Amino acid sequence: MGKMSFIEGLQKRFFLGYSYKYNTFELDPIILATSIKVAVLDYFRNTPWYWIIRDAVFYHLLFNVLSRIILYIRGYGLLTSISKLFHYASRRLFEVLLSLPMVRGSVDKEVSKVLATIEKDMIKNDANLKDFPELPRTGLSEADVLKELDKLNSVLKHSDWENGKVSGAVYHGGDDLIDLQSKAFKKFCVANQLHPDVFPGVRKMEAEVVSMVLNLFNAPPTGCGTTTSGGTESLLLACVSAKMLGLRYKGITEPEIIIPKTAHAGFDKAGYYFGIKIHHVDLDPVTFQADVKQMRKLINRNTVMLAGSAPNFPHGIIDDIVSIGKLGETYKIPVHVDCCLGSFIVAFMSKAGFNDVPLFDFRVPGVTSISCDTHKYGFAPKGSSVIMYRNPELRKQQYYVSTEWTGGLYGSPTLAGSRPGALVVGCWATMVHVGADGYINSCKDIVGKARELKEFIQKEIPELQILGDPLCSVISFTSNKIDIYELSDTLSKSGWHLSALQNPSSIHLALTKLSLKSVDELKHLLKSTVDKMKQSPDAKPSSDGTSALYGVAGSVKTVGVADRLIEGFLDSLYKLEPEHAT
Ligand SMILES: *Cc1c(COP(=O)(O)O)cnc(C)c1O
Repeated sequence: MGKMSFIEGLQKRFFLGYSYKYNTFELDPIILATSIKVAVLDYFRNTPWYWIIRDAVFYHLLFNVLSRIILYIRGYGLLTSISKLFHYASRRLFEVLLSLPMVRGSVDKEVSKVLATIEKDMIKNDANLKDFPELPRTGLSEADVLKELDKLNSVLKHSDWENGKVSGAVYHGGDDLIDLQSKAFKKFCVANQLHPDVFPGVRKMEAEVVSMVLNLFNAPPTGCGTTTSGGTESLLLACVSAKMLGLRYKGITEPEIIIPKTAHAGFDKAGYYFGIKIHHVDLDPVTFQADVKQMRKLINRNTVMLAGSAPNFPHGIIDDIVSIGKLGETYKIPVHVDCCLGSFIVAFMSKAGFNDVPLFDFRVPGVTSISCDTHKYGFAPKGSSVIMYRNPELRKQQYYVSTEWTGGLYGSPTLAGSRPGALVVGCWATMVHVGADGYINSCKDIVGKARELKEFIQKEIPELQILGDPLCSVISFTSNKIDIYELSDTLSKSGWHLSALQNPSSIHLALTKLSLKSVDELKHLLKSTVDKMKQSPDAKPSSDGTSALYGVAGSVKTVGVADRLIEGFLDSLYKLEPEHAT
């Protein structure tokens, strides 16, 4: 029976069953189970324990690597996975090439040159200003300090924000509000929310700010939240809450969050701070909304949160929140909606008579958290935002509690420890002063003007293409005829500072209350500039403009250079004098 024992051997090794009846190999569950049992027993009987441990570690790693690869390919598709791998590999290759001594010198020289121009732009001083590289020995009198402040405000020229020509920089700036906010600040200058017992009035105001905003976003009775220092902090907290929820309830130790490509960089910052892997979902080429089908494919056992924006920063497009909410419900994963930018615009759209906005808030059952920047279209002083949750269990995950600290029992609801109470007071004062009617009117004005600009571009400037169909206050556009960054640089020279975007190359304007009076001017400027650029389509883009900068950022041949320029820019914020020679 030599032949049979050979077949038995095969059975043991390959778990195949031999069907005597049909004289073929087939998978027989009973034989399969027996074979596995025999193989496993054999293995444990004949292998020393240290080999068993080695094998266990090996198979564990192999399983991890394989399952990661499979999840990746399932999420992104084979072609995209390969192209991502290729992109990554070529970036690494060029990184190595650029660090070779003979190349490095010339790259450094180019980087220095650009940094010199950045510093020249950034570090402004004037002979009329006093310099304080260190503490003055004796303090200045109040009058001198105020005089110096006036000079700092006037001598160093700032962009024309008063006329709303800077995209989304200052959202209100009306004299009456500035006056009210300054008075509110003064009354609560020393307040600190870390000590609610000392400042009970501030505690009441903070609770009311949260409650008013929850109401605007149709939160259920269990809805709750906290104020934060801004949109980024709200996003960081939403992410940390989701991460902790995943850890505590599902034992997820390698959390992943799935966001649209257009979601705010604050999510990626959360990934960087808290060790969360961030997946970016592609956009529908027509609507520019996140591709929800791809989002579903990227969901796996490590997913702790899905997100969408209403609307997003780059294109002002509202994602399909209803579909994302359904995904969240189906897979029992929290869903965050970023309304940081939308804030008091998106919340008041229907009340202002714009009825073309699909549901985006807590009325969508799957939505578990929403961020809203009171310091954007809420017109509160900068440093003010609200993070909202569907229920207290979700909010609790963002709390930090320590019962062991030598400094006493400690608990803090948000990122900061001490918090400037005056800011919440400024926010509260602004909200109760403007009131619902005030916000409805500003929504009408701002969105009305934005739609006017949208229609003008669509009808009158065929060389520009609007991305998707923006419904709120941000309009972004690209061009298949002219260099869009060159257009941006030209507008800059006329005092208009639009924001540059990439992938695809485009620029946008976030309209504010201040831009209302200037938009007509922009329309005509846009048309005439595009007409002029069209006449000379072959004109070379300037070598130090936005176009050149984004060229550097997009090319693998200069990988890492854009990072160095941004780092250099950040360094320049803290310099007293330029360091790089021109
Ligand atoms: C502004 C903004 C944020 C947060 O930005 P902060 O500067 O931290 O307030 C988040 N998401 C979107 C869509 C935004 O436009």
